[in-house]
Amino acid sequence: MKYNIVLFGPPGSGKGTQSALLLEKYQLIHISTGNLLREEIASKTVLGLEAQKLMDAGLLVPDEVVIQMIQTQVEKHKNSNGFIFDGFPRTQFQAESLDALLVKFNTKIHAMLALEVSTTELLQRLLERGKISGRADDQNKEIIADRITEYQKKTAPLKNYYQAQNKYHEIIGTGNIEEIFARLCQTIDEI
Ligand code: AMP
Repeated sequence: MKYNIVLFGPPGSGKGTQSALLLEKYQLIHISTGNLLREEIASKTVLGLEAQKLMDAGLLVPDEVVIQMIQTQVEKHKNSNGFIFDGFPRTQFQAESLDALLVKFNTKIHAMLALEVSTTELLQRLLERGKISGRADDQNKEIIADRITEYQKKTAPLKNYYQAQNKYHEIIGTGNIEEIFARLCQTIDEI
């Protein structure tokens, strides 16, 4: 695991889209806790059914649940080039647990790339995505607002956590997909 990135940003900031481009260019493993949880829901596991209630309400699922998923994935891909963590960590406890986990594999987070997009644009993007994603949590303005509030309350403070470790990089998340991708690559290549 030579290179591990946290791709950070509020819901709708483009983490999924940019992860797909980054993993191809840098040959990294993409871990999205949101995707893993949606797979659990699709398979109708007990974990999935429990998580679905919270996800549909725009709330975070318990830390222990997502940390366990991350441990499994990191172990499974321990011989890879590294990881793009997308939608994880979302709380201080998750960030600390991730650091502790990576130490066990003699590695660390090298950079947190934070996509910045205005709340007005996030709302617009998520409602648009809701028309095609089929995600219940993308289709209702109140739920979207609750997800953004959850982000501001519990997740955004993680910028300070990574800034204290000199790993925080702000990336302007507006413009077209190629422009944003170029900004991310430039930052990664500089590090
Ligand atoms: P996402 O696909 O990243 O937007 O995540 C969709 C939903 O899954 C979130 O609104 C949360 O309910 C849940 N979720 C995803 N990742 C996490 C995480 N790291 N911690 C807690 N809940 C999460």
